[in-house]
Formats: sequence, structure tokens, C-alpha cells
Amino acid sequence: MVAEPNPVPPAATARSAPRHIRLTSHHGAEGALAIRWGAPTAAERGPLIGTTTTRAHRNVIGTHSGSYSVYRALAVASGALSPEHRADLTNTAPTDVIGPYAQWSDPSAIVSLDPWGAMVAEAFTTELAAGFDIRPTIAITKAHVILPEIADAIAKGRLQPDGRILLPNGAALVTKAAIEPVWYLPGVAARFGCSETTLRRVLFEETGGMYPELVTRSDLEVFLPPIGGQTLYIFGNARDLADSSVELTARVHDECNGSDVFGSDICTCRPYLTHAIEECIRGAQRGGVGLVAYSRKEGRALGEVTKFLVYNARKRQAGGDTADQYFARTECVAGVQDMRFQELMPDVLHWLGIRKIHRLVSMSNMKYDAIVGSGIEVGERINIPEELIPADARVEIDAKMAAGYFTPGPVPDAEELKIAKGRELA
Ligand SMILES: [Zn+2]
Repeated sequence: MVAEPNPVPPAATARSAPRHIRLTSHHGAEGALAIRWGAPTAAERGPLIGTTTTRAHRNVIGTHSGSYSVYRALAVASGALSPEHRADLTNTAPTDVIGPYAQWSDPSAIVSLDPWGAMVAEAFTTELAAGFDIRPTIAITKAHVILPEIADAIAKGRLQPDGRILLPNGAALVTKAAIEPVWYLPGVAARFGCSETTLRRVLFEETGGMYPELVTRSDLEVFLPPIGGQTLYIFGNARDLADSSVELTARVHDECNGSDVFGSDICTCRPYLTHAIEECIRGAQRGGVGLVAYSRKEGRALGEVTKFLVYNARKRQAGGDTADQYFARTECVAGVQDMRFQELMPDVLHWLGIRKIHRLVSMSNMKYDAIVGSGIEVGERINIPEELIPADARVEIDAKMAAGYFTPGPVPDAEELKIAKGRELA
């Protein structure tokens, strides 16, 4: 039997045939605009251009939209999207103005997002009119968020609707911002204590050679990595975040889809998140401001496949699921206990102009150390109330407290870590 030759999809012929592949690994033509990371104004810093159409204009490695850049490629490949499409930015301007703040012009304070990313349409009007494809990496809008835990807090009298921060129907009024990752490679390397050359080489090798420019274009210092971004939820006036005389309640939360969205009871993620939102609402109502910074770092940035493998390994091990083996099981599967590396996390706080967090709703010593180490003062630390810890999550919280997480109560010792037992799999 003779195999049929693979038919060329009609969309591909219509859009792109015949065409040779344009390599990105050589220097572009004259015409790319310079980037001066940390410059005091948007004009002096220059726009970031990750367009895939006019290659000569590119001044970054990678493309926009983080991990969604791959879906964009699918849309182009299938013929659903013209690669020439330019975003029409009419009426997309931020609902709230953030900054500029002094931290924006400190090239070491912010290295993993573009501080000017929300205001490209106004900051680079001339360049846009001249045909440069400049896209926002940050969008800021308004929302009402309605959570059953907040409705419950109202019903039990812990929260009172005020018509300003919290409506009688239980909706909390927020400003929210979505932020795509933008890495200034020299700054990221400095945070992790490695050379820029090492960082570039390892990023190239560990993504299977996905971005040759990492190793061939040392003149390009900005990388748009194909990873998840972050979302901010602000309760109260966003400008108050930068005023350290206004009480700030904040949580930096790393994604846990199983608990955050689906209510899985093996960890404390959703209960802690909704507790933080309750604290943020209460703080904003007494004249302060609240912030939840939510990072797409699923399962300690190990991903859900690894996470679920670890769950099985924990629950099937001899002696059952106990806190004294909690980190060991993760390390067996993943090779490390955690890949979230909080080194880049404080950038978003500096983008918001934050100098002081009065009430940090987190027990994580890694997050605390990263925030304080970046020069932000932290007042009180708020632990998760005991009654919010699901029974099956006792193993996790005990293990974390023993490993250095903040707790106002006693730290569990080696014997105590053997006591809490997680539910079995069946
Ligand atoms: Zn979780």
C-alpha cells in the first residue's frame, strides 16, 4: 500500500506558501528601537517590540502573551488568525492609573515585568503611528467579585456591606490587573546569582532550543518567556498602595487550581485565599487598601501532573500520608521541594509603588524573606485561622510550619509531624 502524501492544509497554502522559515538567530536590520531598562520615562526606556511580522523591528526575544503565544501560533496555522493582525487599542486604556513610581527607574527593582506595559498606547503614540507593532503587556480593569465565603462572612456578621467596597448582594468591588511576564535577562540573572551567559544558555537548552536568540543575540536583553503571568485584585483605591501611611493588607498567592477553583481539600490554598480577600475587604472598609497578587505557578511551579503524582506517592507510602514525609515525597518526584523561586515575586509590589505591607496574609517564610529582602517593610503577619484548615490539609500545614512557615502558635516537632495523617486514596 502506498501512503498518500500529507496533504497541505488549505489554510496554510492560502496564508503562507511557499515561504522559507525566517530564522531569528541573526542580527536584525537597522530599524529596531533601543531599550534602556530602568530609564526614568517611557520615551527614554523605549517600547518593547515582539512582533512576528516585521522582523527588523524586533528588539526582544520571544513573543507576547506568555504561554498563550503557542495558541496564537495554532490560530495562525489553522487560518483563523492573520499573522498581520494588529490590535485595535481603542477604548482599552487602563481604568486606573498605576505609577510611574520611583521603583520603575531602578533597573534592579523590577526585572520580570514591564512597568510601562499598561500605557503603551499613550506612551508610544508616535511609534505606533509610524507602524511599529507595540502591544500592552499589562491591562487594568474593574470587576465585581462574588464568593460564597464572603457571602457566608456577611451572613455570620464578620463583614458588613457598605455599598462602597462591598455591596449588599455580596459583591466586592475591585480593580484588577493582568500582567504578562517580561524578563530583563541581566536583572533576572543577578536575582538568581548566576551569570547572564549561564542563564541564557540554560533557558535555551532546557526549553529544547526554543529560542536560539538567547544564545546568539546577546544584544537583545529582554525576553518574553512562554510562562504564566499574574493577576492583581485591588480592594480600595489603587493609588493608596504607594502611600505607606495607608494600611495595606496583602496576600501574594500562587495558583493551586485544584483547591482555588475546585475546592480540593488536600491543601489550604482556597481557604487561605478567601480569608485574605475577607481581610482585604475589612482593611479597605476601615480606610486602608487590600491587594491579592495571584501568580500562575501551579503546584509550586512544578505543574499539576507532578503535583498529582506526589499526592499518590504521599498517600501510598508505607505509614500513610504524614507531615514528616511531606517534602521528601515532593523531592523524590520533582527533584526539588519547590520551583516557585520567590526572587521575582516582589517586582509586582514595586510596580505598585509599595513600600510597606502592614498586614501580610501569608505564613510563607520564602515569600516574607523575598519581600523584606527587596526592601519592603512588613508589619503584622496573618496566619490562616485553625478552623479554616481542612482535615486532609493538616499534613501540609504541619510540614510547612515545621519547615519555617510563620505561626503564632507552637512549631510542630518531629514526633508531632508523625501524628497528622492524610486520608487514604480510595
Ligand atoms: Zn493547594
